[in-house]
Amino acid sequence: MTSSPIILVLSALGLQTARQIKSGLEDSIIYGLNTRVDGADESFENFGDTVRQFYQSGHPIIALCSAGITIRSLSSILENKGAEPPVLAVADDGSAVVPLLGGTTGVNVLARQIAAILDVPPAITTSGELRFGTCLLNPPPGIQLKNPEKAKTFIADMLAGKTVRIEGNAPWLADARLPLDENGELLIRVTSGSAEAGENELVYQSSSDNEQSRPRGKLTVIGLGPGDPDFMIPAVKQALKQAQDILGYETYIRMAGTFRANQIIHATDNREEMQRARHAFDLAATGRSVVMISSGDPGVFAMATAVIEALHESDNPAWHDVELEILPGVSAALAAAGKSGAPLGHDFCIISLSDNLKPWEIIEKRISLAAEADFAFAFYNPISKPRPWQLPRAIELLRQHRKPDTPVVLGRDIGRPAETLRTIRLGDLTPEQVDMRTVVVVGSSLTRSFPKAGGGDWTYTPRWYGTKPHS
Ligand code: SAH
Repeated sequence: MTSSPIILVLSALGLQTARQIKSGLEDSIIYGLNTRVDGADESFENFGDTVRQFYQSGHPIIALCSAGITIRSLSSILENKGAEPPVLAVADDGSAVVPLLGGTTGVNVLARQIAAILDVPPAITTSGELRFGTCLLNPPPGIQLKNPEKAKTFIADMLAGKTVRIEGNAPWLADARLPLDENGELLIRVTSGSAEAGENELVYQSSSDNEQSRPRGKLTVIGLGPGDPDFMIPAVKQALKQAQDILGYETYIRMAGTFRANQIIHATDNREEMQRARHAFDLAATGRSVVMISSGDPGVFAMATAVIEALHESDNPAWHDVELEILPGVSAALAAAGKSGAPLGHDFCIISLSDNLKPWEIIEKRISLAAEADFAFAFYNPISKPRPWQLPRAIELLRQHRKPDTPVVLGRDIGRPAETLRTIRLGDLTPEQVDMRTVVVVGSSLTRSFPKAGGGDWTYTPRWYGTKPHS
């Protein structure tokens, strides 16, 4: 289920293009043909075997060669139409980006991303039909499409540029990116009564009988852990398998692995968390099984709180009837701490340096008091372009209470292919060493480090305080 994109390269020119793609797709890995490509991250011997192996293990594949070679290599294993990773062919000079397989696992999203990096238009051939088709033909349980025979023409009309309006409540279409227009020529009607379908119209019926027999909807808020699928708890893997709808940022959805064709992905770059939480309840309240994805732990600066807050604010009985479960994940601080030893082995606190949702004065107060009380720290959201000065100020406050030789662990992309882990001293910590993908662990007055055999350091905070007890 590892899902770093694999870039396969067959020529030196291809390697240049691959590097350009990788600059915008950092977790990808470049594999070069061993006899022709020098300087790739990894090498391979046989294109066919390699592409089939990555396909079967669910990695998104970006092949810098012709679409024909790629399809021919995969043709023998294509019949088994289960979960399928995105597969793209990219011309080795970067002039064309062609999505081939994986329409329901985000191939077109990836194609657009790569095309933007290479500054060419992506050769999207199926997006409309797949996206509109899936959600129009598979309404949630309890709702029936009365005239499925019209769907094909309806979808073709949308693809040809006609706009559509919706009458009634259709939450399962909220993410479908239909060409909506209040004066649309096409009509989607959701009704609980009987209805005759007119021309240019799809009719969905939700009968009250159906509503009472309808299965109880489920919303599971999951944490993927830091990235490595081995760090994901089995209950989370199970929830992902059983989900009918999956919501979350595109990056996390890719990290979660591959999905079956009948699972609906609601990928979003929407930063409005409350809106996303409400959308999840709307879907689950229709009887669907919905999974909301966070990275790390969903309760640590992530979606679980927004989901519970949305429920608290709602007086909709259908929302309160949804079976809600929050499944934990390994949070970044714990993953980084484990890799470096046990710096959080005594009392510690986790502080987000983002002042988007809390005043900076509160953050300063917490840092100062926790530093004075000799807690160890893990800092999340440590620095970003719009927030350049917060980390320097936090370092200044820490230095008022800690010696310059206090160990600091910088864990970046922990559990992901680009993982780095370094132990430095507080006196040497500068903001340039840190970005948004880093968790910063700062020791207490007792935290200490010693060199590890084979390089790096072990860092730990002892279990005792003051003087070491007799052992
Ligand atoms: N729910 C997440 C945290 C989200 S806040 C969790 O429990 O881990 C986002 C911040 O978490 C990032 O700015 C970074 O500081 C930290 N982070 C998340 N994943 C990380 C990883 N794999 N490696 C290092 N830091 C990470």
